[in-house]
Amino acid sequence: MNEIQMLIGGERTASPSGKTFERRNPLDGSVATRAPAATPQDALTAVEAAQKAFPAWSAMGPGERRALLLKAAAALEARAPQFIAAMAAETGAAAPWAGFNVHLAAGMLQEAASITTQVGGEVIPSDVPGSLAMGLRVPAGVVLGIAPWNAPVILGVRAVATPLACGNTVVLKGSELCPATHGLIIEALQEAGLPAGVVNFVTNAPADAAAVVDAMVAHPAVRRVNFTGSTRVGKIIAATCAKYLKPAVLELGGKAPLLVLDDADLDAAVNGAIFGAFANSGQICMSTERIVVDAKIADAFVAKLAARAVGLPLGDPRKGPVVLGSVVDMGTVERCNALIDDALAKGAKLVCGGKSENTLMPATVLDHVTREMKIYHEESFGPVKPVVRVNGVEEAVICANDNPYGLSSAVFGRDVARALQVARRIESGICHVNGPTVHDEAQMPFGGVKDSGYGRFGGKAGIEAFTELRWITVQTAPRQYPF
Ligand code: NAD
Repeated sequence: MNEIQMLIGGERTASPSGKTFERRNPLDGSVATRAPAATPQDALTAVEAAQKAFPAWSAMGPGERRALLLKAAAALEARAPQFIAAMAAETGAAAPWAGFNVHLAAGMLQEAASITTQVGGEVIPSDVPGSLAMGLRVPAGVVLGIAPWNAPVILGVRAVATPLACGNTVVLKGSELCPATHGLIIEALQEAGLPAGVVNFVTNAPADAAAVVDAMVAHPAVRRVNFTGSTRVGKIIAATCAKYLKPAVLELGGKAPLLVLDDADLDAAVNGAIFGAFANSGQICMSTERIVVDAKIADAFVAKLAARAVGLPLGDPRKGPVVLGSVVDMGTVERCNALIDDALAKGAKLVCGGKSENTLMPATVLDHVTREMKIYHEESFGPVKPVVRVNGVEEAVICANDNPYGLSSAVFGRDVARALQVARRIESGICHVNGPTVHDEAQMPFGGVKDSGYGRFGGKAGIEAFTELRWITVQTAPRQYPF
């Protein structure tokens, strides 16, 4: 069992209230982690520590900030074994997924290090004679980052890396489902030697989430909020941010379509679908959630898909290497079982897998899914995937856009020009032609449209999200006034 602490103003700390909460392993119910249950007052102390650290951190030269972020990347990567163990214990995640998390998260810190010198500006032609006018990107202040459990290292790091690179100080609110995993990120940042208060870490009991978040968003020093999680909670956070006029980046749920056009390379499409649908047991915001296949090639595609799906190793990730570990909780099992029941009752065909009695869920494919079925519309966030058969490109595009979400998507087709035309018509923030829906790189503008949220992490878009753009002028010649 992991007993962890928060980090406030450079000090490892419990909640002064003495309150704690437990995270249990989803497979056997053993206590994985005991963590402090912050009160709103504790959370405000963390914001104040970040506020105190802001003047020095924002004034630090980019070279020094870059060196610290690079050290943090190395410290994170060195903790890969601890991350793998913590993710297996807290969320049931398989080792390859945990390893990928650490690798990409380290890359995000390296990318953040490289953008410290890119927080720039421009000289803007002025109509006032002798006025040198500049648009300058400057640090915003304290950034509150709220991260979920499903890709915990990537999303915990993403919540703070670009904000720190831009000269902001941060408070990370860890997930109640993986406090020790998120705590390891904080350990790596601390080991790198970031000054006290630059990074703060708050953990809370599930019942206190709303009060803790509300208190922090309301604090005047908090100038940006970023949230990755469900659309349901994202809407609550958006409303809270609106109340206090705080800009937010919201990365929410998804229902990514993968379109297989009639000229697709079927093996390539199957490989992309298997990876996108079943990595981390389908618990990724970019997971392939709808496989939209042209009826002309659907029989052949589904047969190949099923053959691959049944062969994916499934088991307790603490006992050996698997692709499908445990899903995060019985709620996921119940939700997916209900989606299977609903689809089968309305005429879908079970191709492989099926309902589960515990959190070790098999890869499940349902064919002949129609829009009358719940799984056509709702995020399964588990390893249960619908195949929707369509006739031609027009129907495929209509189907892809027939959903409130719009995060990731994919199109497979040998005629790349045609596939690209299809990609351009899909209402999503991200689309990959002949690649899987699950794809993230630190320097890319990552984000969604519609119910998947707004704002972008990554690269130049991230700099825009986590800085203020100021207009500064210098009058270099005598200024003419009307009176
Ligand atoms: P969740 O929304 O249930 O929880 C996320 C966070 O919200 C937690 O830290 C929790 O403390 C906080 N929270 C809960 N209730 C709150 C309230 N009333 N007020 C303020 N904060 C509150 O999400 P989850 O179940 O942990 O994650 C899964 C969801 O996240 C899926 O829908 C998935 O698609 C989405 N997701 C999106 C992305 C992306 O980049 N777009 C990435 C990963 C996951």
